[in-house]
Amino acid sequence: MEYDEVLRSLGIYWEIFLLYCNEFKEKINSNCEGLEAWQLIAFSVGITLIVTWIYQWLNHPELTLSQRIKKSIFTCVRSMPYIKGRIKEQLDVAKAGLQEELFRGTEGSTYITALPKHGLTRKEILKSVKDYQKLDKVDWKGGKVSGCVYNGSDALSKLSGEIYEEFAWTNPLHPDVFPALRKMESEVVAMCVKMFNGGSQGCGTVTSGGTESILMACLAYRSIWFEKGILYPEILAPISVHSAFNKAAHYFKMKLVHVPIDPVTSEVNIKAMKRLITKKTCMLVGSAPSFPHGILDPIGDIAALGRRYGIPVHVDCCLGGFLVPFMKKAGFTIPACDFTVDGVTSISADTHKYGFAPKGSSVILYSDRKYRAQQYYVNPDWQGGIYASPGLAGSRAGALVAGCWATLVHFGENGYIDSTRKIVSTARYIEKHLRQIKGIFIYGKPEVSVVAVGSNDFDVYRLSGALTGKGWNLNVLQFPASFHLCVTLCQTEEGVADEFIQDVKKLTAEIMKDPKKKADGAAAIYGMSQSVPDRSMVSEIAQVFLDSCFSTGPLATNGTTN
Ligand SMILES: *Cc1c(COP(=O)(O)O)cnc(C)c1O
Repeated sequence: MEYDEVLRSLGIYWEIFLLYCNEFKEKINSNCEGLEAWQLIAFSVGITLIVTWIYQWLNHPELTLSQRIKKSIFTCVRSMPYIKGRIKEQLDVAKAGLQEELFRGTEGSTYITALPKHGLTRKEILKSVKDYQKLDKVDWKGGKVSGCVYNGSDALSKLSGEIYEEFAWTNPLHPDVFPALRKMESEVVAMCVKMFNGGSQGCGTVTSGGTESILMACLAYRSIWFEKGILYPEILAPISVHSAFNKAAHYFKMKLVHVPIDPVTSEVNIKAMKRLITKKTCMLVGSAPSFPHGILDPIGDIAALGRRYGIPVHVDCCLGGFLVPFMKKAGFTIPACDFTVDGVTSISADTHKYGFAPKGSSVILYSDRKYRAQQYYVNPDWQGGIYASPGLAGSRAGALVAGCWATLVHFGENGYIDSTRKIVSTARYIEKHLRQIKGIFIYGKPEVSVVAVGSNDFDVYRLSGALTGKGWNLNVLQFPASFHLCVTLCQTEEGVADEFIQDVKKLTAEIMKDPKKKADGAAAIYGMSQSVPDRSMVSEIAQVFLDSCFSTGPLATNGTTN
């Protein structure tokens, strides 16, 4: 076809199009004949509102469509009169049970519910504290508790106590008053940056714990995406990632998008992660290792995605913070998961877990100062003066920073290599022996300190329940039903690992005599709570648990807490 011929036929199409438009216009006009102006306006406004509502409903910033459909259905069902009553009854029973369980721990003791008229003397307080401590019956010193207490040595508590005494009044908010503390804090960050092989721009801050470290990284990346004009940026993280990321999304107007994990290896499915990346994705996350199953996500692959799409990558090394950096020197081979992996932009590491520092400290580290700047809060206009703070808190406990510093320099590199060797080899010893027990299996290939147990033959909560009966305090996991032991220095003591293995062996053999039997007690409750489709009911019970933690009163029979 000639050029002008093309133009001519395009012209014809254009005229036909105009004709249609005209016809359409006429049709609308004839339909609107007889309508008054106010009716037209009201109609237009109404339609606009409905369309906006539908748009917003389809593009909810925090929940996915299926989550919302489910939620609407359950809200509807729960509001039906008969069902409403029945559910309330059941919830009240569950709530009362929960409260009773918490109160059983302080049975026979009275609560102080108002300031004593006259203050107690030092002697009286110390005596009173001894009485309080009699309530603590779990044998964590003997290695019966998973995670929780990571060191537990008396010598270390003594050191912490002495340091606390020296720094009880200090506050990092006032570096002019406490320059010694400022120096210590900067040294804690520098030591940790070095441990994770940060470059010349490597930096970080000390926080109150793993959760705050994670919150800060999420806040930093969210703010960068906010500046790009993206509301509700997305965190892309494996389903096995710590709940602190859900919390960050909840606090900071973000959306957590979960990536499935491989059912066999428990590692994140990297192909699925790639598919889920959008222009809203402000960070990719991998755990080193994950809390539930203790699995190292493929940090190298995640970082490669981050590089390719220009997205920051956070490594959650909260749990592994003081094991993973020392594993090589302790004689174990694992892939690199620190700043030597190009693309990793931040790492959270808990000094108060395997760093053995007093509870209440962690670090968040960045590959570049531009990220750290995004977590700072600065208010130049406050009446109280120009206000600047690095993290969530204003005033902070200087004694905890000093305690953290003292612990790091007390152990030193060799101390941590030593503890890493003990802990990882104990975990592997336990893993090896549990694998030989018929009826249970181990999730993936745990390489650090957590060993997670499942079963294809029986309800695994029966086993965790039976182990609780033997004095063990393990972490119960869900989706899928499982439990784990997080090995700390307490389990590296002579005989503890063998006792655990023997107990699992004996109790599993017992259960295998009748594998199909239903679970009872706490085990049944765990099983049931997983199968409740309306998660808001489970949340409601969990909230009662929190209420009960602050309760000082006698049990109310109507399920309400005081
Ligand atoms: C413990 C942990 C956290 C959170 O730490 P907290 O100190 O409890 O706030 C985050 N991620 C992982 C993998 C953890 O094990």
